Amino acid sequence: MIVILKPDADLQTQNRLIDWIRSQNVEVQLAQGQRQTVLCLLGDTEQIDAEQIAAWRIVDAVKRVSEPFRRSGRRAHPQDTVITVGTARLGGGHFCLIAGPCSVETEEQIVALAKAVKASGAQMLRGGVFKPRTSPYDFQGLQDTGMALLKLARQETGLPIVTEIMGIGQLPLFADVDVIQIGARNMQNVELLRAVGQMKKPVLLKRGLCATLRELLLSAEYLMTSGAEQVILCERGIRTFDDYTRNTLDLAVVPMLHELTHLPVIVDPSHATGAAALVAPMALAAAAGGADGLMIEVHDDPVHAKSDGAQALRPKEFDALARRVFAVREAARG
Ligand code: PEP
Ligand code: MN
Repeated sequence: MIVILKPDADLQTQNRLIDWIRSQNVEVQLAQGQRQTVLCLLGDTEQIDAEQIAAWRIVDAVKRVSEPFRRSGRRAHPQDTVITVGTARLGGGHFCLIAGPCSVETEEQIVALAKAVKASGAQMLRGGVFKPRTSPYDFQGLQDTGMALLKLARQETGLPIVTEIMGIGQLPLFADVDVIQIGARNMQNVELLRAVGQMKKPVLLKRGLCATLRELLLSAEYLMTSGAEQVILCERGIRTFDDYTRNTLDLAVVPMLHELTHLPVIVDPSHATGAAALVAPMALAAAAGGADGLMIEVHDDPVHAKSDGAQALRPKEFDALARRVFAVREAARG
């Protein structure tokens, strides 16, 4: 950590600051420039609160040299983490297609879609039963009934299930879920992150609508310090000024996250674009860009879907896309 002092910093306060830092068991080295003094903090600086130092009036800026990604960071764990769920594998060169409807609606719908996406090569089934809708007047999900239907589809196909938890009160219902999804809106719900982490299950953590990568990785840290080891990160688009897409797909985060973390990174082109016509091109781009998997919404009757119909692929469209995704993966292997 580096602390840059203001040009007019008085010696007395400077010495008090240095004493205070040293009292935190961190060594301080001084670099005296012509105008400004820089303090180089050496040792276990991660336990120091940068904001506490910035609060000193004589401090101009505080910069961390290393990020506090103790568990999710590459430095802590140089090899890629490979996550295994049933027969599906993600990370370290393994790729996984996760597909299914935005919301579980009926037994016929979820079982038929599960069979269809499995036949196309999907290795996990997604389906929302607790839906974080923007409006309280929109369909909120089938909740416990939906969970039972999702499990039935798992039983019929053998596909592991991925579904979103919205609050800690729902935890008992998720004991038997293969991958617990934390949605974009809850990425920084610390209480939920801690409680889900304690379940020690695989977690799919979506990037928040306005979250930086640092914030995403710190949320992964909450899960991991609470007990979760298998965390999948998901880029699902962020909010920008674009007016023709639901969100802006930030694809560069895939290689960037691969540099920062050993955790697998997948892309959700459905929520990132909001439009079925844009899903295939972005899915292919993500596969070419090194994503460890894709999560895609599929519906047999998008026009009558209870949520996100505009971005849903029909099973036939998903089947055609899946073939192209696998071909792109082969070609990109190099
Ligand atoms: C979803 O996957 O159904 C969902 C609500 O996604 P997000 O949290 O990315 O909006
Ligand atoms: Mn959706």
